[in-house]
Amino acid sequence: MEIIKKINDCKLIINRLREKGYKIGFVPTMGFLHEGHINLIRMAKKDCDKVFISIFVNPTQFGPDEDFKKYPRDIKRDSALAEKEGVDYIFYPTVQEMYGSDHKTMVEVKELGKIMCGQHRPGHFEGVTTIVLKLFNIIDAHKAYFGQKDYQQMIIIKKMAADLNLDIEIVSGPTIRERDGLAISSRNRYLSAEERRNAAILYECLNLAEDMVKNGEKELGKIKKIILGKLEDNRFVKSVDYFEFRDPRTLEEIKRADKKYKGILAAAAVWFGKTRLIDNKIIKV
Ligand code: AMP
Repeated sequence: MEIIKKINDCKLIINRLREKGYKIGFVPTMGFLHEGHINLIRMAKKDCDKVFISIFVNPTQFGPDEDFKKYPRDIKRDSALAEKEGVDYIFYPTVQEMYGSDHKTMVEVKELGKIMCGQHRPGHFEGVTTIVLKLFNIIDAHKAYFGQKDYQQMIIIKKMAADLNLDIEIVSGPTIRERDGLAISSRNRYLSAEERRNAAILYECLNLAEDMVKNGEKELGKIKKIILGKLEDNRFVKSVDYFEFRDPRTLEEIKRADKKYKGILAAAAVWFGKTRLIDNKIIKV
């Protein structure tokens, strides 16, 4: 396994691999690898001849009061894990290498980037789409892998790839969870022991919403009210950014669980103390 820090070195390697006819898979990450990332890497290994991952904590997707500085970083641990999984190359650039000192261009996927997480994290998705497009231009892969845990991000990336005619297939992988259902995230380590125990309520709420729909409740507003009540009753929940029902393809809001929807995305962002966790589930109607 090779760790590449420079954009030009990366491009040279990609050109060489492409000339040889290799199929290239790419898993972009912010590092501090966990089972969620590993599962995407394994998917890429199955599909492709050569697997790249990137490890880059991208400053432009963090708000000024967010956790950019304290986001966990451990390249030694990550490279050992990646090597064990058979990753071929880690692209590990500095912020200076990626943005220089005069970066001015940002990529925006209109509307989709302004709802749900975008409403509460202004500029977040512009940061995400900008870095992902830059990475796609550097690591010219055939397939890129994204987790459904960040469902809105995955939809936005797919839209960007379609709208900008990118020659890359966006593949999505399932959300990987802890035993109690909590979606695995690098941010889970910020939680205190008590917050961690209580954080499983997020997945419980998604399951509860699913049960209510399956038991015939059509009015999603009613379900939302019950769920918000349950969340607000938990003393480790500091606040709820949103709990919403959306069309899994377009992210349009859904108010009634009509049969015309094959699935309904239930998605939430909840603060446990100083930690913001997100999760989602597609409810089959
Ligand atoms: P991150 O390092 O958090 O930016 O995540 C990198 C990629 O891993 C993104 O495509 C995420 O959606 C995906 N990912 C993170 N956590 C999980 C998880 N628990 N299950 C599946 N995919 C995940």
